[in-house]
Formats: sequence, C-alpha cells, structure tokens
Amino acid sequence: EASLEARRAAEAANRSKSQFLANMSHEIRTPMNGILGMTELALEANPTPEQKEYLQMVKSSAEALLLLLNDILDFSKIEAGRLELEATPFSLRDVVLTVCDALALRARQKELVLRTSIAEEVPHIVVGDPGRLRQVIMNLVGNAIKFTQEGEVSITVTNTATTTNSATVHFEFVDTGIGIPADKQKSIFEAFTQGDSSTTRRFGGTGLGLAISSQLVRMMGGHIVVESVVGKGSRFHVYVPFTVDRFSTVPESGVGTRILLVEGDATEARLLSSMVRSWRMEPTVVDGAAAAAEALRSHSYDVVVISPVLADGEPHTLASELSTQMAVILLQPGATARETALNGGVTALTRPVKQSELLEAICRSVRPPDESPHEQYLDVRGNRLRILLAEDNPINQRVAIRLFEKRAHHVTVAENGEEVLGYLERGAYDVILMDLQMPVRGGFETTVAIRKREREEGGHIPIIALTAHVMKGDRERCAAAGMDGFVAKPLRVRDLVKALNTVLGQRTEHAIVACTRLVGVTAAAARHYHERANELRDDVRAAVAAADEKALRKVLKPLQEELELLHAVEALNAMDAMARAAAADDMQSAAEAWPHLDEELQKLEPAVHAAMSESHESLTLPAQTPVSDGDTLPSE
Ligand code: ADP
Repeated sequence: EASLEARRAAEAANRSKSQFLANMSHEIRTPMNGILGMTELALEANPTPEQKEYLQMVKSSAEALLLLLNDILDFSKIEAGRLELEATPFSLRDVVLTVCDALALRARQKELVLRTSIAEEVPHIVVGDPGRLRQVIMNLVGNAIKFTQEGEVSITVTNTATTTNSATVHFEFVDTGIGIPADKQKSIFEAFTQGDSSTTRRFGGTGLGLAISSQLVRMMGGHIVVESVVGKGSRFHVYVPFTVDRFSTVPESGVGTRILLVEGDATEARLLSSMVRSWRMEPTVVDGAAAAAEALRSHSYDVVVISPVLADGEPHTLASELSTQMAVILLQPGATARETALNGGVTALTRPVKQSELLEAICRSVRPPDESPHEQYLDVRGNRLRILLAEDNPINQRVAIRLFEKRAHHVTVAENGEEVLGYLERGAYDVILMDLQMPVRGGFETTVAIRKREREEGGHIPIIALTAHVMKGDRERCAAAGMDGFVAKPLRVRDLVKALNTVLGQRTEHAIVACTRLVGVTAAAARHYHERANELRDDVRAAVAAADEKALRKVLKPLQEELELLHAVEALNAMDAMARAAAADDMQSAAEAWPHLDEELQKLEPAVHAAMSESHESLTLPAQTPVSDGDTLPSE
C-alpha cells in the first residue's frame, strides 16, 4: 500500500520535472529563435566581409548557448538512463577545432593563449558520437578558460593504443588556473558539486558539466582523470576508444584527385598529406613556388593547395598565377583572411583548416556543385506558395515573413488557432506552419479540428509543427495529431526548407506515384485485397447501376476496410465522396462519383502487384521465392 503510494508520488514528481524542463526549454528557446533567425537574415543581407565574420561569431555563440540548454535536458535523460549514443563516422579534428573556434572569443577576452595540437597519428575519421564528444570537449575547455585568469589553456590530442581498426585517443586539457584542492578532485565529477562553493558566484556555472561529461565518456567506454595543484593549474585527461573509419566520408567523385600541396612547414605538410591520402586522393608535397613550378612541368594536378608558409615565393601571387590553370585552395592565417581580395578561381580557407572544409573545397573544385536540394524549392520562381503561419511571437513572425517573402512566397499570419480556422474558411493555402503553444487555441487542437473537417469535406493541407519542445515523444505527438512535419525552434532556414520540401514533395508525389508504390504494406494485405478486389468492385458497380443505396452502403464497408489496410489514400478519398452520397441517399451523386473511384482502383493494381512480389523478394525462404519463367523450381 504505502510503497505503491510512494511510487505514485515519485512518478508524479518525475513527470512534473519533465514538464518543468520542457517549459524552461521553451522559454529560453523563444528568444534564441530571435537571435539565430535575425542573425541568419543579417547574413543574407549582403554584409561586408568584416560584418559577416562578426555575425558568424554571434551565430556560433548562440548555437553554443543552445548546446548549454540541451545539457540541462541531457542530464535528466542520463539520470533516467534514457540517453543513447550515436555511432557515425566523423572527423575528430573538426570536432576539436569547432570547439576552439566557439571558445576563441572567450579566451581572447581574458587575454589567454588558446593552443591546440593534434598529433599526426591521430586517426582522421572515427566512429562515434560527434555531438557528445563535442559536448565533453566544450565543457573541459570551457572550464579551463573559466578558471584561469592568466597564462594559457592548451588542448593536446594524441593516440595511445592504435590498431588498424581502433584507437584510444587521449585528449589532454591543461590550464594555468586556480587549480582544484586534492580533497575535491573526486567530488567535482558529481552532479551539482563545485570545487569551492564560495567561488560559485565569482565564476558562475551549475556544477553539472563534469557530471555529464564523465558519464558520457564512461558511456563511450572511456574515462576521465584529473591532476591539479592549487594555484598552479589543472590537467584533465580524457581517454576514449574509437573505431577507426578510413574512407566513409569521401564522395566517390573525389577519389583519385591529384593534389599539389605547396607547404613550407614540414609538420603541417605531413599532416595535410596524410589527411588527403586518407581520402584516397593523391598528394604531392612541395615546399615553395620554385618546386611547385618544377612539379607542374612534369605532371598535371586537379587542385593545388597553397599554405601561408612557403620556402620561397608569395602565397597570393602563386595563387593568382596558378588559378588560370587549375582550381586553387589558399590557406590563410585567420586574421588576414578578410583583408585580401581573391581572384575568381581561388577558394580561401582559414588555417588551421578543418578537415570537412578542405574536403568540401576539393570536391567542389573538381566537379560542378550539385544544386542543393535544400535551397531548390525555395528558389523556384513563379511557384509562389501561399503559406499560413500560425505564430504569436512577433519576432518569430518577422523572421519567417522576411525569410519567405525574400523568396517571393506569400505569407499570412494568424495569431492563434481560432484565426487559422477562420483563414482556412476564407482562402486556400499550400501549407500551414503551426506553432504548438498559442493562446486561445493551441496547435494540437487546431490540427485535430482541421483534420476532422477534412475527413468530412475531403482534402489534406500539409501542416508543419514549429515547436520549442524537444522532449522525447513530441514528434510522435505531432504525428498523432495529424501533422505532416516537425521543425524545432529556434527556426533554422535549413530545417524549415527541408521540412517544406518533404511535405510538399510528398504532396505532388502523391498525385503522381502514390498509386505505384504502397508504403509499409504487407504482402498478406496486398494478396488479400488482390483476391477480393474484382468481386468488391463489381458489387459497388452493380449497386450504383441499380441505384440501390442500401446495397451500396453495405458493399462500401468491406472495400473501405481493404483500402485502409493498404493505406490507399487516393482511393479512399474517392470512395469517401461516394460514401457521403450513399449516406445521403443521393444516388445521382454516387453514380457521378463512380468513374473516379473506378479509376483510382485501377491505378492501385500495379502497386498491389508490386507489394505482393516485393515482399516475396525480401523473404529468404525458398518456398516463397517466385518461380521464374522456366518450369524449374529453385534448387533448394
Ligand atoms: P561548473 O563549471 O558549471 O561549476 P563543472 O561540473 O563543469 O561545473 O565543474 C565543477 C567544479 O569543478 C567547478 O565548479 C570547479 O570548482 C571545478 N573545476 C572544474 N574544472 C576546473 C578547472 N579547469 N580549474 C579549476 N577548477 C575546476
């Protein structure tokens, strides 16, 4: 009795905690939406290179803030044992450099030197969870900067054990800060613990970072060790085992690319060439302009990469000379990048260069850029969309309006769900972007109301949820309410466009191919339908011809059930019209609806056949293998 009571209370407490976290995430994400959205707009408004750099910093800082917010959500997930790690190939070097980029400003403000060194033997591409690793590194570098008043913070990445397929990577974070007393060195890894609670107000922070980091590292199969002397500084070691992936991120088209690396620094040259070789490209290393000219006399190259450090010659001059013959990638020290005007054929990248940026630049220069599928839809001229935006926050409204109107689409803003329903009565729209938390009538209720009306009147307007909630199960809730897509706030152009492409693509595709492909239908359902289809169709036709509404109502029922099992949306829609007519005893309309239904049922045939044989193929049982042309059965 009592224990049941206690468990109920604990469950209730847990639920209200989740609710609190969801609400807090919403409150913080809403203004973040403004910051990120406005920054993206400003970036699109032709900023000068200098402004662009600043804006990009605003953007990456805002993104860092979002990460922080996610930390809080993560902690509760870890606590509940609900966190899962990804296993995807990613670039270790990029993760480390991204963190340094994000924190460089903070270090500079404190006049600290931020040093990064990644040993050559550290594998380029490993398999793991890049986001979580980034989070750990972010936390440790962030702490190092936070607790250091002067001197330097350094990040060193080396390898301990390496085999062809795996490596244990050793990340070392060293600072010259306040240090951690010996008796606190264990407890700082516990949640909500800070080395010296009197310093809390001085340095800020929640005491969550190290607790999350050490849990994450443990989940990755690694561990964290700290050494520290009060007043001298701290040294955190993080050991993480990874599976090494050598090739997976390289597009086939880049394989075999011949690359001339003009690099005067021997260490950097080794690093670059091993990086390039790991992409199955062919590097040739030379140290300066004279050697480059020599190499070019005897061989041809697809791309030349020029470093700021050359044994002889001037990088810019060399770049513009070579740009007439081939694609040129010029590596520049960060600070000077914005002052230099570059020729058309030259791509400038900032050193230390990120692996993904270099790879992308190389691949882009050896083959014409693909049309980005993300931007495609929004840039289609003459294809104006009528967008109904349901959103009560004025900043979000402005971000979305500017974003779409720039691309010549038409946006109507509704302040709440009630207004949405009103607009839908009066006009036609291609898509609804629906905030979930609105006054008067929320997004879920409004969607349910729209879908209900559509069931009666036909049609299906795509609805994309815009939500600050990123709690588990939200996606499912949106789908259950009848929404077609889901975009998390703060709104990002990319995500929004992707969601629009998906739902609108589905809609047009629907009309064209819905009847050639049935998704998620079992062979059994298809076969069942196939066996009864002719009979059902004849029954309906006969009832319509006889103008017998009772018979029609009776025979429509099994047909509807069959079509529902097939998710045959178009046919169901066609049938709905007839069902409504039958219900109203209007046999005239029923007769008029017949040709359309008949057509839809015919269109369904190839899909039903495909579903039947598709499932055959996926079954490995010999007995199920379809017999081919000849009369012989498969031998097993
Ligand atoms: P937060 O930094 O938010 O307080 P963390 O869990 O990241 O939370 O750190 C817990 C505590 O460990 C800090 O409050 C600080 O006392 C101590 N600490 C962590 N890193 C360092 C460091 N590099 N130098 C000195 N103290 C540190």
